[in-house]
Amino acid sequence: MNSQGSPARLEGFPASDGIALGRVRRVDWQVPEAPRETVRRKDRHQELDRFEEALRRARAELEEIKRRTEARLGPVEARIFDPQILMLEDPEVVEGTERYITENRVTAARAFEWRMLELTDLWARTSHTMVLDRLNDVHDVKLRVQSRLLGRPVPWDLGSTDDAVIVARELTPSFVARLDPDRVRALATDAGSRAAHWAILARSMQIPAVAGLGEVFGRTRDGQTIIVDGRSGRVVVDPDEIETQRFEQRRTRISGWTRRTPDAAPEAAVTLDDVAVKLRANLDLPGEATRARELGAEGVGLFRTEFLAVGRHAVPGEEEQYRAYRAVVDAFPSDAVLIRIFDLGGDKFPLFLRMPAEGNPFLGRRGVRVCNDEPGLFLTQLRAILRATAHGDVRIMVPLVNTSAEIAAFRELLDTAREQLQAEGVPCRDDVKVGAMIETPAAAHAAPELATASDFLSIGTNDLVQYALAVDRTNTGLAHLFDPFHPAVPRLVSRVVEAGRSAGIEVSACGEMAARPAGAVLLMGLGVEALSVAWPSLPEIRSLIRGCSMRNLREAAAAAVIAADSATVRRALQVPLAGPFDVRPSAGDR
Ligand code: PEP
Ligand code: MG
Repeated sequence: MNSQGSPARLEGFPASDGIALGRVRRVDWQVPEAPRETVRRKDRHQELDRFEEALRRARAELEEIKRRTEARLGPVEARIFDPQILMLEDPEVVEGTERYITENRVTAARAFEWRMLELTDLWARTSHTMVLDRLNDVHDVKLRVQSRLLGRPVPWDLGSTDDAVIVARELTPSFVARLDPDRVRALATDAGSRAAHWAILARSMQIPAVAGLGEVFGRTRDGQTIIVDGRSGRVVVDPDEIETQRFEQRRTRISGWTRRTPDAAPEAAVTLDDVAVKLRANLDLPGEATRARELGAEGVGLFRTEFLAVGRHAVPGEEEQYRAYRAVVDAFPSDAVLIRIFDLGGDKFPLFLRMPAEGNPFLGRRGVRVCNDEPGLFLTQLRAILRATAHGDVRIMVPLVNTSAEIAAFRELLDTAREQLQAEGVPCRDDVKVGAMIETPAAAHAAPELATASDFLSIGTNDLVQYALAVDRTNTGLAHLFDPFHPAVPRLVSRVVEAGRSAGIEVSACGEMAARPAGAVLLMGLGVEALSVAWPSLPEIRSLIRGCSMRNLREAAAAAVIAADSATVRRALQVPLAGPFDVRPSAGDR
């Protein structure tokens, strides 16, 4: 219980969809400190042997977790453990520690502690999420090796976890991979983001999670009741009766929406006045495609491909990429699959690119800009995507575009990839559609030109809102300012829709806004023809579409475009939303 005895509400990043109520189970990840001991000259070899043995055991454990993850979730998810396994062989880690043992005559535990401290310091000098995520891998490795060297128990031996909501400062992939999704209800952490490896695993394992809560670990005790809403990013500790009722109602509604779909073909996403809206899925991993199809997705509106690149030491090969794209296309043989080229930069940094640290990475080398700078990397990706076009309706999406010249340059690279394949006799389509993502105010204003250069437009509302309002989407402290219902947003979206209509091309939306009832109402009312949402949101958004009339949606959107402020926009949107939808205005709508 917090000091006032009332519920504590915390806001973080939605990291894995789903809502759960359970009991707090705190997991402390402090790496044990090595005692200040030196060793005699003649005992150095013994320490070197102990270190080698600890590395060998840690490696064996991780290989085993990797094997089990592969059997349970698939090869892509299993690769998440590669950076840690590689770290155990990394000469910087191994030789650096050995040097300390021999030259400074300290114990293996102390030498390892020193060396890892140095490396962590090196990594921590930049604050990119991907680098921080690697720190998280370092932490896992440190804990595993150090606990072994010091003969201490490790925190992942949880004992009974029935109804547990794991609360930690930060989690690690190997910890999450071992959890039993039937017993662990949810995860809540002080640090981390949706891009963290452990969060990707949580999504795959369908465990709801909220990251970046800042202080949930310090504000909870074991056994407290806690609600975790992995969709909105809200956590309530010690919920009162009203909060608990809200949770129960929401859970009942969600299970109602999902229950209706599994066996029978899901109902069509058609409004009460018979307007069809394309409802597609956003995927972060190929393994999610099957679940998306079961839940009635009419294709994939955004296949993020960064899982192939981030946290990896080497550029992913064409064959591996092709298999990943092909798996999704095979799940949707007769629907559109919009594959986004690697959207690198910002909070997504692959290790192999060795990009210099930037003062402002979200305004730096990001999206299509990286594509222009690294044609080799993207040529391989385009070859792999083009090969997948032979098996379905694959379309290619280009992130963070501002000008039609960027689309023209991209098409040239695509032509090169196609010509190469054709020269090699490899089948691929020559009419693959290319779309610009509209993610900046500049792109929204230049939509007529971008529409002429593209075959479709897709609005990335996460970035569009971030750049339109100049509010960092990864800063939880600014979450209350990240407002998709600021009147500037509907005005920008309506420009894009208009441009798409004039050019006769599809305009879709694939940011989180499309997965929130009020956001979906606004986008549909403004004329966006296709919504793409994370697969767990498919039943709810379908149900919403079926419960609204397009006439009402258009009226609400027309009012939103001329509204003076965000409160007026939200009020306008609540009219067509009467019914079972949670439209509380809050930062969770981001
Ligand atoms: C977006 O910006 O809305 C989007 C869909 O892309 P991402 O969230 O991957 O940046
Ligand atoms: Mg984006």
